[in-house]
Amino acid sequence: MLGLMQDRPLALPHVFHRAEQLFGHKQIVTATADGVQTTTIADWAVRVRRLATALDRLGISSDGRVGTFCWNTAAHLELYMAAPCTGRVLHTLNIRLFPEQLTYIANHAEDEIVFVDRSLLPLLWPHQDKMETVKHFVVIEDGADAEIPDDPRVLDYDRLLAESEPFAGRFHVEDENSAAAMCYTSGTTGNPKGVVYSHRSTVLHSLISLTADAAGLSERDVVMPIVPMFHANAWGLPYGCLLAGSTIVFPGPNMTPKAILELLAAHKVTVTGGVPTIWMGALPLLGDYDLSHLRTLLCGGSAAPKSLSEAYREKLGIPLLHAWGMTETSPIATMSTPRSHHDELTEDQRANSRARQGQSVPLVELRLVDPDTGEEMPWDDEHTGEIHAAGPWIAKEYYRGEGGGAQYTEDGWLRTGDVAAADRYGYLRLVDRTKDLVKSGGEWISSVELENEIMAHPKIAEAAVIAIPHERWVERPLACVVLKPGETLTAEEVIEFLTPRVAKWWLPDAVEFIDEVPKTSVGKFSKKTLRDKFAGYTSS
Ligand code: ADP
Repeated sequence: MLGLMQDRPLALPHVFHRAEQLFGHKQIVTATADGVQTTTIADWAVRVRRLATALDRLGISSDGRVGTFCWNTAAHLELYMAAPCTGRVLHTLNIRLFPEQLTYIANHAEDEIVFVDRSLLPLLWPHQDKMETVKHFVVIEDGADAEIPDDPRVLDYDRLLAESEPFAGRFHVEDENSAAAMCYTSGTTGNPKGVVYSHRSTVLHSLISLTADAAGLSERDVVMPIVPMFHANAWGLPYGCLLAGSTIVFPGPNMTPKAILELLAAHKVTVTGGVPTIWMGALPLLGDYDLSHLRTLLCGGSAAPKSLSEAYREKLGIPLLHAWGMTETSPIATMSTPRSHHDELTEDQRANSRARQGQSVPLVELRLVDPDTGEEMPWDDEHTGEIHAAGPWIAKEYYRGEGGGAQYTEDGWLRTGDVAAADRYGYLRLVDRTKDLVKSGGEWISSVELENEIMAHPKIAEAAVIAIPHERWVERPLACVVLKPGETLTAEEVIEFLTPRVAKWWLPDAVEFIDEVPKTSVGKFSKKTLRDKFAGYTSS
């Protein structure tokens, strides 16, 4: 017997029409080089409708890839809607990719058009001739004075919209499983691989960010997505905001701690999200701003050190809300919102649980699997295993079958490459990425845990731990440490600090002081660069 309910597609046109119909009076704020620009959802929606017509006029194929090379702005949000609502596929290009990767992904996705912020033109234009399928480059004014190339393929965004009548009807996407957007993983190894989000996956994922044990986005919220819109759809926050009717504040190109804190204070932001690097940068300046409206500080992308989260709790009264996921998981998979069983814990134990990655959100299933035996590990907080994930917004394969399916199991789960333990409530504690673990004498040392302990030192700004070869133990940890400005410390003092905090055999064999931990295109520690830097370093 079949259910007798309507089978309506879970597709982004619903999100657009809902925002347009119910929340036209709400604001979208963008910080630009020319000052803060404020628009309403009603005016933004007219521009989305104009953009829809413009894409038709420019002859973009019915499911053509629409590239964006933009900061977090209201214009970027126009593209976020107009491309998928007209059946096209939004392809957010990561502005921090190396040129070879950038041209590789534009060609691999067959982008037909690329929208680029004027301030980012100097990064893109030198490589345009290698983008084989792009017919138009549309420049979005953002107050920068970068030179506009004299080339017939280059168009002006505002003029294009002014010349295009607003699309008059209701957008409709028939098949909820059709592609809405794509995003390439930053590819720490090999070429970047394309993750293709569907309308259905995007709508369901947006809905989850409205639930209370996730970000709990509501109409009353003022949300500032700091995490870039060119990376895993800014964790789905922009779509979530439109669905909820939240006011949105976009930081634009200026990502300095001062600029971010000024916006958070000036617009009374209630929910924001960024990688730990952002929160580390902002920490010393917190006292200069009134941030009393903030209720949720999402932190993900790499492990949020307990010391960082606690520093926020002490200074602002709210810790970081730790979330885990990856491009392949849309990305929200777990959230560390406190659970009722944490009520009985001491403050210190609670701080430890806040540094964990949390429980899976509804509709996401996780299991821990021993990578060698394929055996499922119990949730006893001791056994560790690779996290496998399944759910309606988890990728089932990469675009064009890249990677040959190695990352997917026969029964259709995603092998995340992350190793974790879980307590009996399934509250995850990420131990490491499989490739970053240090294997010493057959036992694993978690580089993440060691880093977190080292970063608890008051004189240390950042620390990254990598494996170095060792004759007897095969691998041993090397700690690469960045001191806070003006501080001094010796390797012995670092080890002394660590000694009561970790098992003796975990203590790094060497400590190297470096000026900065190299970062990947999305601001994470680039262990690969460090491994290259310290190649040939051995310990005995
Ligand atoms: P890339 O693999 O290119 O870094 P992603 O941005 O998709 O691309 O990164 C996902 C990875 O980031 C996860 O597999 C995990 O290793 C790490 N990560 C994400 N969130 C967290 C977190 N809260 N704690 C620890 N690691 C995290």
